[in-house]
Amino acid sequence: MLYRMEGIVIRGTDYGEGNKIITILTPSHGKQGIVVKGARKPKSRYSSLAQPFTHGDFSFYKSSQLGTLNSAEIIESYRALREGLEAAAYAAYAAELCDRGIGEEEAGSFLFYQLKACFDALAEGKDPQIVVRAFEMKISGIAGYAPLLDECAGCGRTGVPFRFSPAAGGALCAYCRSKDPSALELGETTWKLLRLFAALDLRRLGQINVKETSKDQLKIAMRNWMDHHLGLRLKSQHFLDQWERLSQQPAPEPRLPRSAERPAEPE
Ligand SMILES: [Zn+2]
Repeated sequence: MLYRMEGIVIRGTDYGEGNKIITILTPSHGKQGIVVKGARKPKSRYSSLAQPFTHGDFSFYKSSQLGTLNSAEIIESYRALREGLEAAAYAAYAAELCDRGIGEEEAGSFLFYQLKACFDALAEGKDPQIVVRAFEMKISGIAGYAPLLDECAGCGRTGVPFRFSPAAGGALCAYCRSKDPSALELGETTWKLLRLFAALDLRRLGQINVKETSKDQLKIAMRNWMDHHLGLRLKSQHFLDQWERLSQQPAPEPRLPRSAERPAEPE
């Protein structure tokens, strides 16, 4: 049977001689695996289409689990995301979250438009750390693990200071703190952003300027949350961690080798 649908390439693996299997995330049919014959041959008209992050219109035959590409057109290539190392690292992480973090039943049109909005925001040069933290919150919600942020996960109290506890399910008040002594203390800005991300449709994300300390808190909070509830070990996450660590470090001061600092005393 011939299918035709819009989709975004979230994974690509080499297959046989010169072929690729791509996974596309669609707004209408969840995730679909499609064999793209000759995709790795330089002259193939489909080589650019099979690239990660490509948003296209795909037409494919499908009788079993895997489809076979019939024809396709690129709607948006997101070349900017592949060319910059930083943007590529964040986009790869977002794509892998959709691939590994979301089950077939939850991969609906909302996920599709959130991923597309995430790619758009990264391509437009919005702060990737903010974009990706918001996207992690969307993924948590779609996967069924949205944190409680406005009331204590232990007793339901509202309007009191909270700590953030992935193990308890989100906000934890002072009375319930013993449930999770390792609950994180977060600043007011971080709480505001977490609540904003939970309520936000990424298509409406503006440019937000956030201090490094709040960004660090957001990162730790969301990472702990994702690790506890989704427990993914993503290849792209490892690379992204290294990237973020390197980009945060101040450049080392040039230093002369020890021998040059202190010339040896003449005997
Ligand atoms: Zn409580």
